[in-house]
Formats: sequence, C-alpha cells, structure tokens
Amino acid sequence: MNDSSVAQKQLVALKRKLDAAIESRSLLEEDFNLQSSLLIQFIAKLSLVSKGVDLELDNRLAQLRTLFTKSAPISDIEAKIAVISKLLQQHSVTNEKNISHMHEQFNLAGENLQKINGLPGDLRRDLRALLTKTKQSKDALIQYIPLLSQLLAFYDHALKAKNGLPKQGLLQAPQLTSPVAQLPNENEVAIFDASILEKISVSLSSLPLSKVHTNELLVIKKKLMTDKSTDEVLNHLIDIFDVIVADFKDEHNSAKSFLTNLSATLTTVQSAVKETIVTQKKSQKTNEKINQKLQSQLIDMTGTVEKALSLNQVKEDINEKLQFIASTLEQKSKFEQQSHQELADKLNDMSAKVDQLEAQSRIFEEKLIAQQRKSMLDALTKLANRAAFDDYFAKAMVRFHHKPFQLALVVLDIDDFKKINDTYGHTAGDKTLQVIANTIVKNVSKGVFVGRYGGEEFVLIYSKTQEKALTLELNALNKYIARLPFKFKNNKVSITLSIGATHIKSDDNIHIAFERADQAMYKAKKQGKNQVIYVK
Ligand code: GH3
Ligand code: MG
Ligand code: MG
Repeated sequence: MNDSSVAQKQLVALKRKLDAAIESRSLLEEDFNLQSSLLIQFIAKLSLVSKGVDLELDNRLAQLRTLFTKSAPISDIEAKIAVISKLLQQHSVTNEKNISHMHEQFNLAGENLQKINGLPGDLRRDLRALLTKTKQSKDALIQYIPLLSQLLAFYDHALKAKNGLPKQGLLQAPQLTSPVAQLPNENEVAIFDASILEKISVSLSSLPLSKVHTNELLVIKKKLMTDKSTDEVLNHLIDIFDVIVADFKDEHNSAKSFLTNLSATLTTVQSAVKETIVTQKKSQKTNEKINQKLQSQLIDMTGTVEKALSLNQVKEDINEKLQFIASTLEQKSKFEQQSHQELADKLNDMSAKVDQLEAQSRIFEEKLIAQQRKSMLDALTKLANRAAFDDYFAKAMVRFHHKPFQLALVVLDIDDFKKINDTYGHTAGDKTLQVIANTIVKNVSKGVFVGRYGGEEFVLIYSKTQEKALTLELNALNKYIARLPFKFKNNKVSITLSIGATHIKSDDNIHIAFERADQAMYKAKKQGKNQVIYVK
C-alpha cells in the first residue's frame, strides 16, 4: 500500500465521519423545530380552553401565542413568559381585593345563618363552608347566592311560623345581587301561600345545575307544591339546600382541578422553555470546544507538513494526527447523539403532558358550553327562557334600527291557568305547560323564536312575516290549541290562549314594543279570552 492510497483511505473515513456529524446536527435542529411547534400548538389550545374562564388569562395567552407564531427567538419567549407570570400575580392580587369585598357581603349572610336556630348542624356547616369558599371560586358561587339568601329567609320565616313566634320582620336576606324575590307581608299566611312557593320554584328553574341535580330539584319542587304542612315545607327547603350544596361542591371541584392543572402545565411549559435554552447554550459551548480542538488539530497537521524533513516522517506524523482527529470526530458525534436523545426524551415527556391536558380541556370545554346553554333554557318546558328572550329581542331591535324589517312580537298567555292548578294539582299544571310549549313550537313557522317569558306566558319573535300572514298563523295556532283534548282525572278539559301581537315601529324601543304586545294580549283577555288581537 503506498502513501497516497493510505492518505486517500483516511480522507474517505474522515469525510464519512464529518457527514455523520452534519446529519446528526440537522436531526437536532429538526427536533428543536418540532419542539417549538408543539409549544405553539399547546399554547393555542390553552387559549381556546381558557376562553371565558378568565379574560386576563385569555389576553395573556394570546400575546404568548403571537410570539410563538412569529417564531420569535426562544429567549424573547422566555422573557415574555416571565412578564406574563408577574402580571398574572398582580392580577390575582386585584382579584383578591374584589373578592374580599364580596366576602364581607357573604359574611352578612353567614351571620344571618347563625341566627337560624332550627337548621340541622351539618347543613349549617355545609352552608357556612359554601359561603366562605368564595376565595377560590367566585364565579361558580355567584349564581347560587340570590337563591340561597332567598331560601334562608323563607326557611327562617317558616320556622318562626311553626314555633308560633311573633314575626318581627323577616330575616333580612343580604342583597348580593338584585333579583331577590319579595317576601310576604305579615298579614299573609306565609308558608302556605302558593305564590311564594311559586317564586321559589321559578328561581329554582333558572339555576343552571347539573342534569342529576336539576332532576333532583324537580322532584323536590313537585313535593313542595303538593305537601302543605309546615314540617314538610321545612324538610323540602332543607332538601333544596342539600342539592344546591352538592352541586356547588361538584362544580367547585371540577373548576378547581381544571385550573390547578392549567397552572401546573403552564409551569411545565415555562420550565421546558428554560431547559431548552440551557441545553441549547450548553451544547453550543461543547460544540465550540470540539470545533476548536478540531481546528487546532488541523493547524497542527499543517505545521507538521511544513516542518517535516522527510516523507516518512510526514507519513508517520499525519497518520498519528489523523487518529486524533478521528477520535475527536467520534467524540463530537457521540455528544450530538446524546443531546439528541435528551431532547427526544424531553419532547416525549411534554407531549404526554399536553395529551393529558388536552383530554381534560375537552371535558371542561364541553361542560362550559353545556352550562351556558342550560342557563338560557327553561328547565320545565325546554324553551328559551326569559334571559334568552331578552338577549334575542335586544339584538333583533338593534338590527331593526340599523335596517328595518318585518319584526313582530307576540305575547301568549294561557287562560284561567290558575284553575288547572287549583282543580287538578300543580303537576297537572306543569304537564300542561310542557304540552302547550311543544304545541307552540310545532305550529309556528320555521325560524320563529319561541320562549317562555315566565309562569304561563310565552313569547314569539317573527322576523319576516307581515300582519296578514302573522294573524293567520296565530289564529290557526289558537284554534289548534283550543281543540287539544286535555284529560285530567277523567275530565275532558280544553285549554285556550289569549294572544297579543304587534309589529315593531321605527320609533319603538324594547319596552314600548313589549308593552304594546302585552296590552294587545290584555285586550284579548278583556274581550273574552281565547282570541288573537293585533295592534298596529
Ligand atoms: P288569566 O286567564 O287572567 O290569565 O288567568 P290565569 O289563572 O291564567 O292567570 P293568573 O296570573 O291568575 O295565574 C297564573 C297561574 O300560573 C298562577 C301560577 O300558580 C301558575 N303558574 C305559573 N308558573 C307555573 C308553573 O311553572 N307550573 C305550574 N303548575 N303553574 C304555574
Ligand atoms: Mg299570566
Ligand atoms: Mg293566564
């Protein structure tokens, strides 16, 4: 073997090693890219899920997302994450202040709770815990507060009536939010008054509880309407407390565990970004060192050639130096393989966490959507409720004032409905409401908004029907319902409606328009019920 063929062979080996090193390097880069795209996806998903949970969190995650999509340098991202963390901390301090204000009000409710002597001990404890839990989950609690205050007041009232104590004014329910039902005055036989129970029942229907708890409430509500003794009423009120407490606990736990996971995952991401930077810097340094070593070995080799006195000496020296270079290259490729493995591990770790959170997010997202949908639905009839109507009508009015169209409002009230309740019982009344609601939905044109305004009143909103077609449809509906064969306790009963309708005019506002439709409905009542009155 001659000198040149030895050198040739060495060179080929050297080149192969260099190629391997280059390939290993590019794999490493791919991994970096993959990791950062995973982070982008992850942040995007977090943003989606947290939407609506907390506005601040929304905004901040959006900022972070933009940074990722602009492929900002990873060190910038780290800085931004730090800023966001700090802002989040400040945000939680302000939140705490607001919450402590609300807390004072809850304490009021708590004090009132102490005054109720007949409340069972464990229920008292549960309620107190509920009232003090506001620090962690203000949003979930707010929806329960008006009803809880109301129920406490009723409970106190019923208890005093039972013990024959003089009623020196009712326990004052704390005014946490506005719509607290009015309490009866002294002259009324309070606990047996159907209208009070009715008010509780209406408040209960509007509470967006989980399906299981809603069903439980419906059962208790029915009993509340039929059982009239003080003891029974007291027991049912306690049952209602129990259901609300149970629902709150579920809600609280699920929101809490979700938010805890969210923040834990954010922390993981933050440290993953940090680690990536550290690894990147470390491997950069090691690579630099190895490259320097390689370079000095090459310089050394050139020097050897220049200083060599004989070809044999060159051959020996170069052989030796090539050995060194080969081993340095081996070191380099080993190192790159190792950091490649480290990154791959980290990547796997993170994607497992993302998968886990993703599954949890989906459940929470579904829950949020379902809850929102439920808070707009009437529990008994499954029609849109008053809140949904207000929202829909307000939006329609805005569109109308922007560009007028055939917008019509209809108010429907069941005639002599109280008689059904009084004669055949509240359950028969409830069933009737469900049947009437279904019949209205089936008999109005497609695209008409149908809602339960409250009690035995319904509302319709038409968007493209003129007076003639509208009154035709409403009269047909009226006749159809009047002919429905209701049967209670073997008695055939016919149920009729009084219907008022009007089209919206350019100088109307929500109240004027509603008042006109309502007046039309009253006119129908005055003129003998079971008829449709249209007013221009
Ligand atoms: P009018 O023809 O003048 O409308 O007489 P009415 O009896 O229909 O009207 P009134 O306002 O005197 O009574 C309405 C009744 O509707 C009283 C209330 O108990 C009953 N009601 C309201 N909501 C419900 C409910 O959810 N279920 C049941 N069963 N009854 C309800
Ligand atoms: Mg009515
Ligand atoms: Mg009525």
